Amino acid sequence: MNNDLHSRALSVIPGGVNSPARAFKSVGGNPLYAERAEGPFLYTRDDRKLLDFCLSFGPMILGHADPDVVKALQEAAVKGTSYAVTTEAEIEMAELLTGSIRVMDKVRLVNSGTEAVMTALRLARGYTGRNKILKFSGCYHGHTDSMLVQAGSGVAGIASASSAGVTSEAAGSTLVCPFNDVEAVTQLVREHADDLAAIVVEPLAANMGLVLPQAGYLMQLRQLCDEAGALLIFDEVITGYRLTFGAYANLCEAQPDLVTLGKIIGGGLPIGAVGGSAEIMDHLAPDGPVYQAGTLSGNPLCMAAGLANLRKLQALDPFADLASRCERLTDAMKASAAAKGIPVSIPRFGSMFSIFFRASEPQNFAEVMDSDTDRFTSVFHKMLDAGIYLPPSPFETSFLSVLHSDALLDQMLEAWDNAL
Ligand SMILES: *Cc1c(COP(=O)(O)O)cnc(C)c1O
Repeated sequence: MNNDLHSRALSVIPGGVNSPARAFKSVGGNPLYAERAEGPFLYTRDDRKLLDFCLSFGPMILGHADPDVVKALQEAAVKGTSYAVTTEAEIEMAELLTGSIRVMDKVRLVNSGTEAVMTALRLARGYTGRNKILKFSGCYHGHTDSMLVQAGSGVAGIASASSAGVTSEAAGSTLVCPFNDVEAVTQLVREHADDLAAIVVEPLAANMGLVLPQAGYLMQLRQLCDEAGALLIFDEVITGYRLTFGAYANLCEAQPDLVTLGKIIGGGLPIGAVGGSAEIMDHLAPDGPVYQAGTLSGNPLCMAAGLANLRKLQALDPFADLASRCERLTDAMKASAAAKGIPVSIPRFGSMFSIFFRASEPQNFAEVMDSDTDRFTSVFHKMLDAGIYLPPSPFETSFLSVLHSDALLDQMLEAWDNAL
């Protein structure tokens, strides 16, 4: 069955997938074909039941097919699936986001994280009247042209540093710097201060595996932006509503000018958002000169699923509990590896963690790449055979949902121990 689907997919979809990270290029073997998903489990077409630590690369924090999200979707669907006329749900979503993220007075809803970042960059350029954007190697900001330079996620496994088809003009307006290197970023910002529109950063870098910012690093970026008159953009598509009810920006001292969101705020439906102060956001069309639009933006199904997801998350407030379960899991994973003399580092924050087969936690993309990816591949497949689905790449982050109970985590630990 799987082989049949695989050959059909390969003959009509490039690479057989609609997004490269699903193709298992980093780990080898045939990709998965899903039948359905429920709670913490993904069920495949070849009748496997997998405990899911990929969770659609992050959005499914309540687990799959949450009954409240499903009900909200069903109720919304019968009222029509797109109007291109504003709904109260869009206003409610914007109220919920601006009410829970300190630096957001206003927010524009779009259809993906890629679009959110694309809009944030255009807005930063329009607002400052400047051209250049500084990003960090290994950070992923979606597949807009100017961000496909030394990017993480699915791009990290590809040999060339960037994508074909990106013009030298687009790539040339992007400055790239190693993460966690204050000296390098200071020098680059000072060199380009006159034409720097923004620094864009994943405040917790989660698309090269998980790389945490060193103490004071984000504050240094804030100060450099202030000096240069550039904006600071936190790309929180992956971290938004995963670590607290709001953005990671709520948890740190450094405050961004713009925040981008996606993934969790859509409850598993396509969405993105960009927000910041009213002064900056009012530069967007129709009131301002920076154009941005979308036929399906603020789509009623996405609003229904996203609002149901966020409201339940707000009521459950599971973040402390998720973090302590993740801590127990990763501590036990490390202990198991140490007992076997296998060098591994497992950075963790909240309900996110990633596995690097190297002795110390990587601080940047170069150190990420200097881990034993063959060992990751071997462990990934052994875990998969034992019913545990980790994200299919050493450059992705694993997630817990609220339904990853202690008993299920014990199953994961047993598989980990055996795999090692
Ligand atoms: C996933 C992700 C994106 C891209 O979002 P899409 O919805 O896949 O376009 C951008 N930035 C970060 C930090 C992400 O994790």
